[in-house]
Amino acid sequence: MKTLVLSAAHQQTAKIAAKIIKDGELVAIPTETVYGLGADGLNPEAVAKIFAAKGRPQDNPLILHVAAPADIEKFCHSIPASAYLLAEAFWPGPLTMVLPARDCVPKCTTAGLPTVAVRCPDNAVTREIIRLAGVPVAAPSANISGKPSTTTAQHVYDDHNGKIPLIVDGGPCQVGVESTIVDLTEERPRLLRPGGITPEQLLAVLGDLVVDKAVTAQIDKDAVVKAPGMKYKHYAPQAEVVIVAGSREKAAAYIHRHATAKDRVLCFEEELPLYADCNPLSYGREDCVETLSAGLFAALRKLDNPQIHKIYARCPEGGGVAYAVQNRLKKAAAFQIVDAEVEV
Ligand code: AMP
Ligand code: MG
Repeated sequence: MKTLVLSAAHQQTAKIAAKIIKDGELVAIPTETVYGLGADGLNPEAVAKIFAAKGRPQDNPLILHVAAPADIEKFCHSIPASAYLLAEAFWPGPLTMVLPARDCVPKCTTAGLPTVAVRCPDNAVTREIIRLAGVPVAAPSANISGKPSTTTAQHVYDDHNGKIPLIVDGGPCQVGVESTIVDLTEERPRLLRPGGITPEQLLAVLGDLVVDKAVTAQIDKDAVVKAPGMKYKHYAPQAEVVIVAGSREKAAAYIHRHATAKDRVLCFEEELPLYADCNPLSYGREDCVETLSAGLFAALRKLDNPQIHKIYARCPEGGGVAYAVQNRLKKAAAFQIVDAEVEV
């Protein structure tokens, strides 16, 4: 199959993409978080193609993307007032809500769960594609399962050239990490995955928030978890990733003691001079955490090379968007963290 790449700025792109989705085929779509691999979320055969193209485990449910916030009423029931407050505050935007699913949502989209994850993305062309298709678009991140997510059209092309009919190129994603997921089906709202909408922002609207254990710790692959996707190895290049915590100086000293010629250093732009002799790669500025979230996956993909033995990574501290960067990097590192303040 020939894979067409069309610019989001091209007038006909939304119409062409919507037709392909209506016909039950796959289209890679740009969003503010990452590129998604989209299909008609109400069509089980189309949804099955997403799982096949990504090599995604069948028990990992998909997010349904809607063109307008009010559309969630077609796919969800028993919607609590908190969902409307969150939609008002953050949609369109990088927030996904888990709500009770209506019967029209097929089991393959929800991986058999009674709930469905819904989001209204902050990308005008993608919302137009969904509107013209007339169906909600199920779309996970477009990467091959287990690999770092796709934040440019080129990343999608690298993973799916010849396997999908269309990639819509909307330029690099601004947020760069997948959406924040909050579960609203229990008594207390629960953060299942941190992202561009921060825990602090959620708390300000909800007044309460439980952080699921899958956010901060490694989950056993046989465990029963709220967000099934969180238990899989994720976001990881082929090489082993080790996070080196501690001050700039102590971390640099640790890395210089341990790194070999086959290793790479993934650091902040401010730290590049410290690693001049170690072939470092910066993924953004520590003093502007949005550049770190925007640059993380592109950097991890650049380092996804069988020649590289080990990657020593620096991770931002604190809350806000840094919390999401920590989550992705810790998962890429399978929670291997050394503290350079105490380890030699
Ligand atoms: P991805 O789109 O690849 O970032 O993956 C979607 C994420 O949403 C995965 O981590 C899923 O486990 C999670 N998800 C989707 N639907 C649900 C649901 N009904 N309940 C809990 N988590 C969900
Ligand atoms: Mg994903």
